Amino acid sequence: MSFRDEHNFSGGPGVLPPVVLEQVRQAIEQVPEAGLSLLGISHRSDWFRQLLDTAEARLRDLLGLDASWAVLFLQGGATQQFSMVPMSFLRTSGLAADYIESGYWSAKSLVHARRCGSVRLAYSDRVQGFHALPEADSRRYDPAAAYLHYVSNETVEGLQFHHVPGHDEVLRICDMSSDFLSRPLAVDRFDLIYAHAQKNLGPSGVTLVLLKRALLAQLPTDLPDFLDYQAQVTAASLLNTPPVFAIYVVERVLRWLQQDIGGLAAMQRINAAKAASLYAVLDEFPDFYRGHARRCDRSQMNVVFHLPSAEADQAFLQACEGRDYVGLAGHRSLGGVRASLYNAMSLAATEDLSAFMREYARSRA
Ligand SMILES: *Cc1c(COP(=O)(O)O)cnc(C)c1O
Repeated sequence: MSFRDEHNFSGGPGVLPPVVLEQVRQAIEQVPEAGLSLLGISHRSDWFRQLLDTAEARLRDLLGLDASWAVLFLQGGATQQFSMVPMSFLRTSGLAADYIESGYWSAKSLVHARRCGSVRLAYSDRVQGFHALPEADSRRYDPAAAYLHYVSNETVEGLQFHHVPGHDEVLRICDMSSDFLSRPLAVDRFDLIYAHAQKNLGPSGVTLVLLKRALLAQLPTDLPDFLDYQAQVTAASLLNTPPVFAIYVVERVLRWLQQDIGGLAAMQRINAAKAASLYAVLDEFPDFYRGHARRCDRSQMNVVFHLPSAEADQAFLQACEGRDYVGLAGHRSLGGVRASLYNAMSLAATEDLSAFMREYARSRA
């Protein structure tokens, strides 16, 4: 793996573990058990069914999911879930859904929900510019809502929930696209969790959906099969041709998480060390690297900051490029700088960037 790949701080698709990239390279040539290239293996083959089962078993093991949970490998990205959730649980509920508007992605999810029914904003930080998350106080949430929806890690602004918001009696639905499997998860406090693969889990093309089987009974019956969780569960994620390649990579990443990293608690320790290394530089030079997130809401996945001017941002990004630290430009909606520290970003590569940033600040400040 090149230095540039190892130091790819892209917001998504994100960096993947070198060991997985090597396995993928070989599998594109030939999957030994099938004697074929990964890209030409039928999704109806025994090999693929086995792959789906193994991927699901690894996920269940990592999260401690019991049989009350269904696991789906869907397409359409997190964006399709923005629609599928309210089509399924809001439109015919006769209730309002609670939404937390805490950043760019949760704002997107709201647009889709409003087309399906009544939405109550339990929290919005839009006017202030999405610097802070709500405090852990359940009084803000409607105990009679159809469900509460939120985004656990706001990828663009670099804000991450360090508590689980809402009432345990209300369905809790969460978009975990950018921090799924980055830390242990109290999965039983949730009813539906979705996460596309391309930040922490693999390439784009597949979205993991975990849902409590009990929810299936309340689904409307007029949904197109593709958008119907029940039809997808019945078909065991094989309603139509699934993204074989993406699912293969996800299975390899799950193996890496289990066996090479040692599970979610070990992953969290590494992720915490990476984030601490970069935030220490921000805290050392607060006038030069101006962090976007309120301190207590800082994300361990996306470290977002601005330099004193847009020109300074550009000069910094160019200097990074020159050293082969790539993918650091902030999201197009926010500008500035974003260092994404997804699971596969190593502590050593993160420390390289921290050292460079220290040196850069000393030379300019
Ligand atoms: C990147 C991102 C999305 C967008 O996902 P798509 O798969 O492109 O639809 C949604 N939610 C979060 C939290 C994200 O980080």
